[in-house]
Amino acid sequence: MNKRSVKDLDLAGKRVLVRVDFNVPVKDGRVTDDTRIRRALPTIRYLISEGARPILISHLGRPKGEPDPKYSMDPVSRRLGELLELQVNKLDAAVGEEVERQLQEWDGQGVVLLENSRFYPGETDNDPELARQLARLADAYVDDAFGAAHRAHATTYGVAEHLPSAAGLLMQEEIDNLERVLSHPERPMVAILGGAKVSDKLSVIESLLGSADTLLIGGAMCFTFFKARGYEVGKSLVEDEYLDEARRLMDEAGDRLVLPVDVVVAGEMSESAESRAVEADKIPPDMMGLDVSLGTVGLFRGHIENAATVFWNGPMGVFEIEAFAKGTEGVAQAVAESPAMSVVGGGDSVAAVSKLGLEDEMGFISTGGGASLEYVEGQELPGIAVLPDESDKGES
Ligand code: ADP
Ligand code: MG
Repeated sequence: MNKRSVKDLDLAGKRVLVRVDFNVPVKDGRVTDDTRIRRALPTIRYLISEGARPILISHLGRPKGEPDPKYSMDPVSRRLGELLELQVNKLDAAVGEEVERQLQEWDGQGVVLLENSRFYPGETDNDPELARQLARLADAYVDDAFGAAHRAHATTYGVAEHLPSAAGLLMQEEIDNLERVLSHPERPMVAILGGAKVSDKLSVIESLLGSADTLLIGGAMCFTFFKARGYEVGKSLVEDEYLDEARRLMDEAGDRLVLPVDVVVAGEMSESAESRAVEADKIPPDMMGLDVSLGTVGLFRGHIENAATVFWNGPMGVFEIEAFAKGTEGVAQAVAESPAMSVVGGGDSVAAVSKLGLEDEMGFISTGGGASLEYVEGQELPGIAVLPDESDKGES
């Protein structure tokens, strides 16, 4: 990473505003998946060990720019305290005189957690006044919220313009791992792409064709490619507007683009639907493809086993339904068993991996859903772009 790291900052005795990604699922006042909180712990612990005073801020859910108890950070505060085993001083606002007063009185023990940044309309508007108010709370700013780095908001962008700033340890790890896949992969590099929509992933495919030796395509998007090849696709999800584009990509990629050889079909997308496997070009007109089948898992596994680098985004089928989860499970197992350095990105792909309990078998699991995809597309993420380069050791 060529960005200034938290390790380059002068931290002892400093108040450090840390943008974390604590946008976690909450149900009945409890955090139901604390992955993102856990992933932020190394930076928080590092700051404490260096004698800094961490002041944490995050958004949670989509409140409408005003306080809404449904999206309070209270449940996050409780879980963070359990994980850190330190006092979490949760404040009821994120900026303002009362917050400044409470920070003055803070004895420096544990950490401070500010209230949901999206309780302020200025957050998503990247309002300069909100950025200035945030900057008044601290001596330095650390961005560890890779999952929010594709947004230019007050807490991910604006505030960085007012304080000495740096990337946190998670942010750094995310960038380093994605770069390992994209810029200088060990070969062979195999990319696996699935998920619902080709339209979502076209620029991802395009970009990966620049670095991958082989691109394995599953999920609903394979049906647009099948149709472009002239196969009967029945009632499968197809985006007709993208048939030309699919054809162009297949021409460009040649045999580097590998499509499923068999699929699991059913009359409808439901738990109770009767399903069976058919060859890829023999989908009955009244059926829809909802998963890749065994022959495809075997074919994909062959590529994955021999890879030195694997990037995976998007489930191979409708993994939320047991009958259509086997393709995703098979591919996940293959990635887990492969000696390749693997990077998994994307909300649903990561959910599938964690549902299978395979997190520890993967090389790196990105915490960024949309952010990691935009990164792979080659887009500049504002939350990263705003951070100073490594070489600027001076002011922000
Ligand atoms: P990610 O979040 O990992 O980037 P996506 O959001 O692109 O993945 O896609 C995930 C969704 O794709 C899942 O909800 C899954 O059910 C759906 N999906 C996968 N294969 C199919 C298919 N054959 N037909 C319909 N939906 C599918
Ligand atoms: Mg998704």
